[in-house]
Amino acid sequence: MRYYILFGPPGAGKGTHAGAIAAKYNLKHISTGELLRAEIAAGTPLGKQAEALIDAGNLVPDEVVERMIENAFDTIKGVDGFLLDGFPRTLPQAEVLDAILARRGEKVNGVISIMIPDSLVYERIAGRAQKEGRADDASPEIIAHRIQTYHAQTEPLKAYYRAAGNYYEVDGYPGTIEQNRDRVLALVEKIY
Ligand code: ADP
Repeated sequence: MRYYILFGPPGAGKGTHAGAIAAKYNLKHISTGELLRAEIAAGTPLGKQAEALIDAGNLVPDEVVERMIENAFDTIKGVDGFLLDGFPRTLPQAEVLDAILARRGEKVNGVISIMIPDSLVYERIAGRAQKEGRADDASPEIIAHRIQTYHAQTEPLKAYYRAAGNYYEVDGYPGTIEQNRDRVLALVEKIY
């Protein structure tokens, strides 16, 4: 099995480009944000626990997403690997992921980091808010808080994966969605 991570700030285009990568390489796309929103929509205890945190632009506890990921690895069959989107987001999550994969005799094959400037994060999320109606997209304050969380807690993972020798960057702008997708696909083709 192969394990790839789609990395980058909110609005970088991880979710937008994931489908094309997953289809091309027969990977299962797993978005922890989508899994959490499904729990909220279904009204599960986990969803109830996560909702206020997500709506305020905070991360949910590491253990919650780590459990979701391991459960997905245990239950999803018939694919050549996994494309993780929005996980890991903290150093402890990255370390736990390495431990989970080591137990399976596997490793992270590549981290695809989609880069956009903070100013574009605001612009794109404001556009998405109109379409998707996510509470955590609704106010500039919450978006600012998510950007801050990204820089403080998630960005340190760059150094972690650089040290591991499997970190690759691609620009997530400018251009159309298709042009950006082609850039991302070209990088994946090179590192796969
Ligand atoms: P975005 O890429 O726009 O930040 P996501 O759908 O990836 O959106 O995540 C939405 C929210 O779900 C995050 O702000 C956070 O509250 C929660 N979440 C998603 N993935 C994780 C994770 N790996 N660790 C902690 N919280 C997470």
